[in-house]
Amino acid sequence: MTIFSKILAGQIPCHKLYEDAHVLAFLDIKPIARGHTLLIPKEPAVTLDALSDDAAAAIGRALPKVCRAVMKATGATSYNVLQNNGAAAHQAVFHVHFHIIPVLEGRQLGIAWDAAASDQALDTVLARQIATLLG
Ligand code: AMP
Repeated sequence: MTIFSKILAGQIPCHKLYEDAHVLAFLDIKPIARGHTLLIPKEPAVTLDALSDDAAAAIGRALPKVCRAVMKATGATSYNVLQNNGAAAHQAVFHVHFHIIPVLEGRQLGIAWDAAASDQALDTVLARQIATLLG
């Protein structure tokens, strides 16, 4: 059982921002910036790819709404949405969650964007492979 399942079960407290039948939003306990929010599905999927279509749709519906409220309440005009999957990708709580992180008061998500030139031949093969998997 993850800490987020315990929050969903009411076993540990949170600063709740929004709840419907499928999702819960609450303040992150260690915020990068004021108003740093987590939006989670009630379905206990570990990573985004494991989420059911219904839970994914519910997250998709709630996400912009929660972003709007966080931005309005904090006065931020820029923000990042971050979603980590797997320990190597900095996931620490193994229950799907979206971070909504305002840019405020000189604080914001740090991003190391180590981009490389694309390989057109590789990308042609890869794009075909992924597109086939997607049907
Ligand atoms: P991640 O690295 O994407 O798995 O992020 C997990 C996030 O959960 C971190 O930002 C933590 O600060 C946050 N977190 C962990 N426990 C709690 C809690 N009890 N209430 C609110 N946020 C939490």
